[in-house]
Amino acid sequence: MKFKRSNIEQQVQQVPQEVKWCKKCVVSNQRPRIIFDDEGVCSGCRNTDYKNNDVDWDAREKELVELLEQHRRTDGHWDVIVPSSGGKDSGYVAHQLRYKYGMNPLTVTWSPLQYTNIGIQNFTACIDSGLTNILATPNGRFQRKLARLSFEELGDAFHVFVLGQLSYPFQMAKRLGIKLVFYGENGEAEYAGDPEYVDKPYKPSKEWVGQHFKGLTFRELLDYGLKNKDYLTEDDYAESDLIFYEPPAADELSEAGIKGIHFFSYFHKWSPQENYYYCTEHTGFKPNPERSEGTYSKYSSLDDKMDGFHYYLRYIKFGLGRCLEEASHEIRDGHITREEGVALMRRYEGEFPAKYFKDFLEYLDITEEHFWDVVDSWRADHLWAKVDGKWELKHPIV
Ligand SMILES: [Zn+2]
Repeated sequence: MKFKRSNIEQQVQQVPQEVKWCKKCVVSNQRPRIIFDDEGVCSGCRNTDYKNNDVDWDAREKELVELLEQHRRTDGHWDVIVPSSGGKDSGYVAHQLRYKYGMNPLTVTWSPLQYTNIGIQNFTACIDSGLTNILATPNGRFQRKLARLSFEELGDAFHVFVLGQLSYPFQMAKRLGIKLVFYGENGEAEYAGDPEYVDKPYKPSKEWVGQHFKGLTFRELLDYGLKNKDYLTEDDYAESDLIFYEPPAADELSEAGIKGIHFFSYFHKWSPQENYYYCTEHTGFKPNPERSEGTYSKYSSLDDKMDGFHYYLRYIKFGLGRCLEEASHEIRDGHITREEGVALMRRYEGEFPAKYFKDFLEYLDITEEHFWDVVDSWRADHLWAKVDGKWELKHPIV
């Protein structure tokens, strides 16, 4: 357990032991890297004030046009990569770059662990709206075993998706000679409001390991899996199966002229709800007929049967579920009040993702009993108490 302790558990221990909730939205101070000011307001909300009052969005759009001009190709080659699942956010970015700004985007997709029907439909519709796509689907035998390792040792099976989602587009960019890679939103700026990232159009690769890879490289994870508990054997993969799990080295990226992850949210004010409206009109995007478990919306993160467990485990580790993120964004965007957000939190936050539970157990090849043992091993002591045999948050939102 030294491996686990040295990474995620340390992160869990580093958050404040006293839980505080933002006075304006519904996020708590348990979010890694978030900052609360003297008035009890989080840096995500302060960043929204800054975006609403201080950012010159016309100037930012001019910056975008200049950046695109530098990269635009007229020789029949792609000039920008957009990692896209066909969801509302990446669909919006790709469609805008192609049809508003006249770029030649290639959309690339790192496959979900297991597609939902609505995920496949939206993925196909986005391509049919006029975008070329390359889909990468990793070696399934290896991916499932790596997902189990990630679930047990990092508290997040979905980590395997994150590795490829970030690495694969840059491997493709390097191989295809494309220098610009555009993601949608900068989570650090949008959700944690880290002042260091608010005014940066891109994030260089050296910062990815700490922020996105849970403080350890893919090779460290692989090495651990080969040496412990029979998680993995060398028969499970060939070296070539591993290419897309790792980003190119920093010097390879700079040699290829690739600066890092560019964020559309730096250049255009980011509103998930407006992206949704845009994509229903332009990319054939359809919401789910039913709301996603753990929240109230029908249009976010719909592609993967497994990602409900990513949010659920985050709720266990940090007390931060899926509803909190959407409600906080919508409060900041002025779509709902804090009071409405709190009511939604009481109703949906932490709801167990039962719909695909069986699929999740089968995917990881584990029993239900083992699942709960792992989940309980991740409960932070300062957040959870057992009351009459049931786990409850000690400091729920008020
Ligand atoms: Zn806030």
